[in-house]
Amino acid sequence: MDRLKEILNFNRQFVKNKEYEPLVTTKFPDKKMVIVTCMDTRLVELLPRALNLKNGDAKIIKTAGALISHPFDSTMRSVLVALTMLKAEEVYVIGHLDCGMIGLKGNQVIEQLKNKGLPTEKVHTLRHAGIDVDHWLNGCEGVEQGVLETVQLIKNHPLLPPGVLVHGLTIDPHTGELALIHEDQQDEE
Ligand SMILES: [Zn+2]
Repeated sequence: MDRLKEILNFNRQFVKNKEYEPLVTTKFPDKKMVIVTCMDTRLVELLPRALNLKNGDAKIIKTAGALISHPFDSTMRSVLVALTMLKAEEVYVIGHLDCGMIGLKGNQVIEQLKNKGLPTEKVHTLRHAGIDVDHWLNGCEGVEQGVLETVQLIKNHPLLPPGVLVHGLTIDPHTGELALIHEDQQDEE
């Protein structure tokens, strides 16, 4: 049986058996948090459990390396929507140890894409058009530096409402242990 069919079959049973019932909540995060973290498979269940997050507690935005590459990309838009329409109040950027984005160079990704059949001319065309695809596909130099850059990008964003706290942490993808990289504090009046 192929994967899609398997998922659809499971899903029909899931709904029929009302297995969703213990998960029912609202779209507003009960803990008023928005988390920007990595798409790493090891974090799918580990991260929420290690932070004691239940369904409905937090907005979780996943992007490779927990990196926001551009202040006007869709990840940053998601942060702003979470902070306004969805009533989140605090941002947590959570990178992780042993992340695939550490040290990743854009040209390595491009090589892999070529191995998957991408014609070389397409890459050349983009480069000639002035699109810096290599830079765009880059990861970060180190996990802490990546987290700090993303924290700074959010903190310095011209559309960020005043007073929003933006914390930076790392998580161990094996044990779930957090390490604090940047604790944001309310400015004293
Ligand atoms: Zn990662």
